[in-house]
Amino acid sequence: MVVYDLICEKNHRFEGWFPSFESYQEQAAQDQISCPTCGTTDVEKLPHACAVHLKKEAANPQAVAEKRPSQTVSEADVKEFFVRLHHYVRENFEDVGPQFAGEARKIFRGEAEQRPIHGSSTPQEREELDEDGIPYVVLPKPELDS
Ligand SMILES: [Zn+2]
Repeated sequence: MVVYDLICEKNHRFEGWFPSFESYQEQAAQDQISCPTCGTTDVEKLPHACAVHLKKEAANPQAVAEKRPSQTVSEADVKEFFVRLHHYVRENFEDVGPQFAGEARKIFRGEAEQRPIHGSSTPQEREELDEDGIPYVVLPKPELDS
């Protein structure tokens, strides 16, 4: 999953979630990304820390050649990504706490309302979800600065 800050031609800013950078590019090329405020598909990606970083290097081909791709994303970038991810989940997903596995199963079976949820689960519960083919994602806990 990647998150991008997007901005439309009328300067409405919003967040876009994509499975990968490639799928963002594909959707952007086909005008499939629209502004939630005004509906325009004239949408651009705002440069964030990571993108700015890469752009600077692209302007200097030698630097790119010397650096391995894995080094272009710093630990801070990764940390920021997870903090943002958790923020997004907290804002947009219903917290079902330790009932997560049970709720996920109910939603999967159509016994509960389709909605994004987050919560906690035990390794045993996750194994059962795996066995039943119920999709879920395990997020690492962000290390919040104290
Ligand atoms: Zn707009």
